[in-house]
Amino acid sequence: DITIGVLGLQGAVREHVQAVEACGANALVIKSPSQLNEVDGLIMPGGESTAIRKLIDAYAFLEPLRAFAKEKPVFGTCAGLILLATHIRNSDMVHLGLLDMTVERNAFGRQRESFEETIHIKGIAEDFTAVFIRAPIIVSVGDDVDVLASIGDRIVAVQQGHLLATAFHPELAGDHRMTEHFIKLVSKQA
Ligand code: GLN
Repeated sequence: DITIGVLGLQGAVREHVQAVEACGANALVIKSPSQLNEVDGLIMPGGESTAIRKLIDAYAFLEPLRAFAKEKPVFGTCAGLILLATHIRNSDMVHLGLLDMTVERNAFGRQRESFEETIHIKGIAEDFTAVFIRAPIIVSVGDDVDVLASIGDRIVAVQQGHLLATAFHPELAGDHRMTEHFIKLVSKQA
């Protein structure tokens, strides 16, 4: 049986738990680093990346998360994508720094704080309703990163080996194909 952890410090935690369970896998809300030993893969939810980072530091999560992500699949959504990135535009801040990409926070601007867009996700969905909430975009990626989805020249989903990231909230549209894709990735490696 596959168990997916959902980092439970801040943000859209419960929605990811529901999406994982809807896909037939077990979900565990992770609130302390030792719980990482109990899961086969980890979702880092959307929320507010600076707030999540403060809690990561308060609970000594940074190194355990990094070590986990080097070994096992991690799916970062929205703020979780920012946590995975190697570079954040206009900032010296690096969180896990493992997925080779430059991200720009709040990149759609105030006029489009939150919106839905139907996107094509390579090999996963032709018509995925992607929910964006004060979303980042991926400005550029390294050679080993596979671009899965874009809106014009804005990259919104990528994969690098067992690391997956989306600028949108895949758990909110009632369409679980992106979560299923991650669970498959975890199953292959578990
Ligand atoms: N704007 C948030 C940040 O910069 C991300 C928004 C989200 O996760 N929905 O962390």
